[in-house]
Amino acid sequence: MDAHSVRTGNRRALAKAITLTESSLPAHREQAQELLEKLLPHTGNSVRIGISGVPGVGKSTFIESFGQLLLAAGHRVAVLAVDPSSPVAGGSIMGDKTRMEQLSREENVFIRPTPSGGTLGGVAQKTRETMLLCEAAGYDVIIVETVGVGQSEFQVAGMVDFFMLLMLPGGGDELQGIKKGIVELADAMVINKSDGDGERIAAVTQSQYQSAFSLLRNDAHWTPVVMRCSALAKTGLEEVWTTIQSYVDATRESGFFERQRATQNREWMQQLVQAMLLQRLKDSDAVTRELPLLESEVEAQRMTPYVAARRVIELLDKS
Ligand code: GDP
Repeated sequence: MDAHSVRTGNRRALAKAITLTESSLPAHREQAQELLEKLLPHTGNSVRIGISGVPGVGKSTFIESFGQLLLAAGHRVAVLAVDPSSPVAGGSIMGDKTRMEQLSREENVFIRPTPSGGTLGGVAQKTRETMLLCEAAGYDVIIVETVGVGQSEFQVAGMVDFFMLLMLPGGGDELQGIKKGIVELADAMVINKSDGDGERIAAVTQSQYQSAFSLLRNDAHWTPVVMRCSALAKTGLEEVWTTIQSYVDATRESGFFERQRATQNREWMQQLVQAMLLQRLKDSDAVTRELPLLESEVEAQRMTPYVAARRVIELLDKS
C-alpha cells in the first residue's frame, strides 16, 4: 500500500487504504497499521465535526447543503458515518435511499458509509482510522454523522472537535428524547426545518433549549449555543460554520483544542486495550475450556466470583 498516493489525494488509493483498515484479516490489519504509522505525521490538519440527530431530522439534507457551503469556501470535505444499525453492520436506520446525491458528485468531497462492525474495537475504531486517512489525503473538514443508537453518539462525541445535535422545531423542554448525557457533550444544538410554518415554533424551541443548555453545561472553554437553520432553504448555515470557526479559534487559543485531541487519543488507546484483552479471552483455549466449570461453581456458591475471575486471568497468562 502506497502512502504517497494517499497523500497526493488519489481517491482510489484512499478508498483502498480504508478498505484495508476495515478488513478483519490480520495480515491486512498489519498493513493498515504500517500505512497509518507512515501517515500519522500528516494527520490532524482538519476540523472534525460530529453531527447527531433522530432519523428524519434532516441530517443528510443538512450535510448536503452545509457541504456545498464548505466547498464554496474552498474546503475539502469528508463525510463519514457511525451507524451501528446500518445494513452492513446488520439492521438499518440511516436507510438505503441515495443520500447526499449532489455532494457525492463533487470532486472535493469524499463520502464513506458506516464500516461493517464486528471486529476489534467495532465501527467507531474503523471510523477513527478512516478519519486519519482522510486527513492525510488533504480533507480539512471531516463530518462524522450518527444516529442516536446505542453508544454511537458517545463514540462520535469522543472522536470529534465539535459535536452538534440537530433538532426539530417543537418538542419543548423534553429535549426530544435525546439522552441527557448527550446534551452535556454537545457544543451546539441546531434546530433544523426553521422554515415556513416551522419557523415560529423553531424560535420558541430555540429559547427553551438555550435555557436548558445553560442549566446543563457550565464550561470554561465554550458556552454552547443554540441556532436555527433550514437545510432545505439553505438559511442559517453560514452562522453554523462561523460558530464552529469561533469554537476552533477560541479553543486553540486556550489550548483546549489540542488537549481534547490528546485525551481522545489516550481514551481510544484504552478502549483498544480492553477490546484486545477481551479478544484474547475469547481466543484462549484454556479459558474456553474451563470457563463453564468456573461459572457453575460460582452459580452454586462453591467458589467466590473473585477467585473464579482470578483463575480466568491466570489461565490467560499461561496461554
Ligand atoms: P435524516 O434522516 O436525518 O438524514 O433526514 P433527511 O435529510 O433524510 O430529511 C428527512 C426529511 O426532512 C426529508 O423529507 C427532507 O426533505 C426534510 N427536510 C430536511 N431538512 C429540511 C428543512 O430544513 N426544512 C424542511 N421543511 N424539511 C426538511
